[in-house]
Amino acid sequence: MSQNVEIIEELIYEKDYKCPMCNQNIRQKVVKASKNKLLDVDFDLNARYEKVNPLFYEVVVCETCGFAQLNKKEEMPTLAESKLIKEKICANFAGRKYSTYYTAEDAVDRYKLALLNAIIRNATEGEKGYIALKLAWVYRAEGNEVEEKRFIGEALKCFLNAYQKESFPIFELQEETVCYLIAALSYQVDNLKQALNWIQVTLKGEEVSPKLRDRCFTLKQMIREKEKEIQK
Ligand SMILES: [Zn+2]
Repeated sequence: MSQNVEIIEELIYEKDYKCPMCNQNIRQKVVKASKNKLLDVDFDLNARYEKVNPLFYEVVVCETCGFAQLNKKEEMPTLAESKLIKEKICANFAGRKYSTYYTAEDAVDRYKLALLNAIIRNATEGEKGYIALKLAWVYRAEGNEVEEKRFIGEALKCFLNAYQKESFPIFELQEETVCYLIAALSYQVDNLKQALNWIQVTLKGEEVSPKLRDRCFTLKQMIREKEKEIQK
C-alpha cells in the first residue's frame, strides 16, 4: 500500500529512548493523536483513522539488540527479565531496518518482536493478549485474513486466562471491556455459544457504559445472523 509521505510527516514526531538492554539510542516515532481524525470503530474495538494508522507506531523496538515492548508499558524490565531478554533475544539478534514510515509489514515485525519479548520475560496473559490483538488488527489492515484469525485466537486464549487469574485494567482496558472483547473474539473464531455467554457476563458488570451495552446488543444480533447462516 502506498503512503502519502507529506501527510504522514506532519502527524509524526520522534522521541528518544535509551535501550535498557544495550544502551543504544532508540528513535521512536509517535503519532500526534489530535491531528488524526477517528473515522470508525470495528465491533471488536479496532479504531480506524483518517490519515495514519496509529497501530503501526505502538511498539518501541531497539533495532540493534531486539528489545521490544509496547510504548504504553512504562515499567522497564526488571533485572531478572533483562537477563532473560539478553540471553534469549539480544544474543542472537541480527538487527533490523524499518521503512522511514512504517508499513503494515514493518508493524507486523515490531508486534512479533514485542510478543516474543513478552513471552521470554513471562509477561502476564493480559499483556500477551493485548499485543496479539493489536497484531491481529495489523493483519486486518493488511488484508491477511488467515493470520488475522490466528492471532485473534491467540488473544482470545490469553484474555480468557487473564480473566481467571489476573487483575484489571489491562493497559487501558477495564474488566467489562475485556469481557466484551472475549465475546467479540469468540464470535470471530465461530465459537458462538461462548460469545453469547460472555455478552451475558459483560452485561452483568457493574460498570458497563451505555455505549458498551449497545455494542453487546449489536453483537448479539450478529451472532443470531451467523447462527442462521450456519444452519442453512
Ligand atoms: Zn538495544
